[in-house]
Amino acid sequence: MIKLKNHTTKLFSANLSNKSHKFSYVASALPNLDEGQANCQFHDHNTSTSPGTQETSFLDPRFYLSSLINCNNLQQIKPLHAQIFVSGLFDDLILVNKLLYMYVRYNALDDAYNLFDEMPERNPVSWSVMIGGFAKIGNYASCFEVFREYIRSGEQPDVYTLPCVTRVCRDTQDLKRGTLIHQIVLKFGLCMNTFICAALVDMYAKCGIIDDARKLFDLMIDKDLTTWTVMIGAYAACGNANESLVLFDQMKEHNIVPDKISMVTVVNACAKLGAMNKAEAIYDLIKRQYHSLDVILGTAVIDMFSKCGRIDSAREIFDKMREKNVISWSTMIAAYGYHGEGKKALELLPLMSKNRITPNRITFVSLLYACSHSGLVEEGLRVFSLMQEQYFVKPDVKHYTCLVDLLGRAGKLDQAFNMIENMTVEKDVGLWSALLGACRIYKNVDLAQKVSENLIELQPNNPSHYVMLSNIYAKEGKWENVAKIRALMTNKNLKKTPGFTWIEARNGVHKFSSNDHSHSEIKSINEKLESLIQKLEAYGYVADTEFVLHDVNEELKVANLYGHSEKLAVAYGLISTPDKSVIRMTKNLRVCGDCHTFLKCVSAVEQREIFVRDAKRFHHFREGVCSCGDYW
Ligand code: ZN
Ligand code: ZN
Repeated sequence: MIKLKNHTTKLFSANLSNKSHKFSYVASALPNLDEGQANCQFHDHNTSTSPGTQETSFLDPRFYLSSLINCNNLQQIKPLHAQIFVSGLFDDLILVNKLLYMYVRYNALDDAYNLFDEMPERNPVSWSVMIGGFAKIGNYASCFEVFREYIRSGEQPDVYTLPCVTRVCRDTQDLKRGTLIHQIVLKFGLCMNTFICAALVDMYAKCGIIDDARKLFDLMIDKDLTTWTVMIGAYAACGNANESLVLFDQMKEHNIVPDKISMVTVVNACAKLGAMNKAEAIYDLIKRQYHSLDVILGTAVIDMFSKCGRIDSAREIFDKMREKNVISWSTMIAAYGYHGEGKKALELLPLMSKNRITPNRITFVSLLYACSHSGLVEEGLRVFSLMQEQYFVKPDVKHYTCLVDLLGRAGKLDQAFNMIENMTVEKDVGLWSALLGACRIYKNVDLAQKVSENLIELQPNNPSHYVMLSNIYAKEGKWENVAKIRALMTNKNLKKTPGFTWIEARNGVHKFSSNDHSHSEIKSINEKLESLIQKLEAYGYVADTEFVLHDVNEELKVANLYGHSEKLAVAYGLISTPDKSVIRMTKNLRVCGDCHTFLKCVSAVEQREIFVRDAKRFHHFREGVCSCGDYW
């Protein structure tokens, strides 16, 4: 249908040698590369000619470019390929790169490889097209295969390709390949390139190798906002949210102004840490920088205030937000649940419908959680049937977990166990742990043993399940079984997860571990703890050694208990904060039963309100009682 005349082809080829014309359509030729790539490859070319000033014809490469862009399948690409070849436009690198990209896009491996081999000339863009294109469609094997060829060709890989393959390693958690790429980067002396280095930092961080990520990060001279944000997020993800906040302060000292993404990252980090003063400072910054509380940032702030113990501030933000989606509503409901305010959580459900927001499965998890954590057994069961009958949400393992918690709280352990045995959805650790919690509260040793066995079967390498089972045996005096479990743990090289408590005092966050003597004020802390214990004993506190795992003598057990990180932290809180002020702490594991009793007594004897966020929930100790009602 298209007849070509030799002389016009020649004429046009001559025209094409003019660079300014050639790059006038460069933007459309680029295979969806990111902006950084477009800039670094072509920033020095003249792009002044407007494509609109000339009419495109079938001899114009732009004609083929737009035709290629409009291709929807492989069958449409092949005739164009032939026409480009016949038109003599095969030496137009941009056009051929686009053609190459289209083959990659439709995963036509043979066609892509053949074309690549036939190309009269390749620039780094052709390699990038192949590597980036395969990465984009998820064909990682081909992506790495071409990358390997690229390296073998001896050419220096560019600042698009290296971050691209590094990101693939990040997304597939392929640390081995990621490390290899790092070596290639070093070999080509590219380790000072911001794009490349930032991608490596991100890769190491997402693979959980935080120390290597940090080393690279510290070596970077030009750290952009994205890299800071990656590092801040990485620390929060690996459980060191304190370092996230330290880095965030350092970032500001470097005069790097946070954007919304970095604000959300640091808000999430602060939520993890539960540091109230920091939360307020961050919120002030959000206001000062006029970041609007859109759905994402607003919802993150609600979560932060709630997890820092400020449920009222969380609600204030919630009411202030102009736009709220189902996640914002669910977060607010979860916040009430967290604080044991189940009634308020339930009140939000009809309000939600009024605002034409349909609750989803997460909303119902939050609602059921709120009911179970507030002891609203009847209400919880009602929500469970409402969810299925009115909203057609099929219960999953998370909903069942809340229900087990609910039944467990009411002492209906057998009913909970039967429900688990009869349910069709796959059982997980959370579900069994909920039942185990109930067994612990109601001292049902037989059932606890069954549950622990299920937990160990699901997670044979998680030390806490063994510790729990050994604990149960120890309580029964079954020392033979205790010894067996310990031997098993040694065999598997399993160690107990160490417990940590963080406390915000004197403008900083202080971290304590069990029997920790590293704090600079440890002498005063121990003195305070000693006098405190005497006061508490006079008040009626008796150390509950049931929670100590070792079969050691009673005196040692008590000494062990007194070294718990919560006790050290609260003693420090008492000496380092003003009289009557609120003490806020965060614990990485569940607070132990003895520390729970201890803190209740402290709140009465010292007349202090104490907020403790542990791995499970929020405890608000006041005048000798806790908001959790001793069920957690
Ligand atoms: Zn404890
Ligand atoms: Zn409590």
